[in-house]
Amino acid sequence: MNKIDCPVRLNPEPAIMNGLILPSSFTSLWDPPANVAPGGFWFIFRAGKLLVTTSAGLPDPPGIAMGERPPLPVSDRHFVGLLDGVACWVASCNDIEPPAGFVFETLRGLFNHLPDNLLAVAGRGAQVVEFHRTHCHCGVCAALTELDDFGRARRCKACGEITYPRIAPAMMVLVKRDTGHGRELLLAKGARFATIYSALAGFVEPSESVEDCVHRETFEEVGIRVCNLRYFGSQGWPFPHSLMIAFTADHESGDIACQAGEILDAQWFPTGNLPELPSRFSIARRLINAAIAEVAPDHPALRK
Ligand SMILES: [Zn+2]
Repeated sequence: MNKIDCPVRLNPEPAIMNGLILPSSFTSLWDPPANVAPGGFWFIFRAGKLLVTTSAGLPDPPGIAMGERPPLPVSDRHFVGLLDGVACWVASCNDIEPPAGFVFETLRGLFNHLPDNLLAVAGRGAQVVEFHRTHCHCGVCAALTELDDFGRARRCKACGEITYPRIAPAMMVLVKRDTGHGRELLLAKGARFATIYSALAGFVEPSESVEDCVHRETFEEVGIRVCNLRYFGSQGWPFPHSLMIAFTADHESGDIACQAGEILDAQWFPTGNLPELPSRFSIARRLINAAIAEVAPDHPALRK
């Protein structure tokens, strides 16, 4: 049974909510076009951290290395697309100190510092680099692999097994209820990310539909049943390779009962008294903001 009861609605995209979404000025490609200028942006990773330019250290606005060649020796390189017509390369290096004027930073550390369009391409780059780093050997016979399908995949030199980047789908759901006192949002604080209240989330299991995952995870984590499931939108989340698929839903029945070991706390928060919310880079924040905007279009949370 299809448990999406209502038609798909458009995902509102306020201008401040670009986050990690690839901009429309970016074209995803795996092979550089023949007429593209040599070089371009270099998204270089060392142990999961990105090389960025800095004149006086963060939080001065950092940037990404540009030029015909990478600014330090790299062990591999992969083309990932064009940003405003400029080639974007990702590469990795090992145990090399950054050259003068550069530092290595985590992607999360670059939130609100690196321009959004560069941060989004860096998110794609991080997943590409991580895929090639962790699939040098075949998962079937352990022989060496090589690039395949124009760089999208890796193929085993011995047995021919082909592997594409792994993407882990996860559902996110914001449960709401409208009472005589206004709208309330169900926000939870997970045991693994205990610093902030957010929408519920969980990974899709083998052969499970995303819709069934929403119903299962919601009941497991907070003990309630939901209805009126509506698709909101999706977003890649490169920590390390998730695809967040977000919904809204209405409370149908049940009182909150937090799952031990998974959920530290969960509460119904009135829109007029919300806790600290997730960063604007997450689809959770866009989901929460959209639910607030329906009932309180001038709410201060929408301006952050
Ligand atoms: Zn093999």
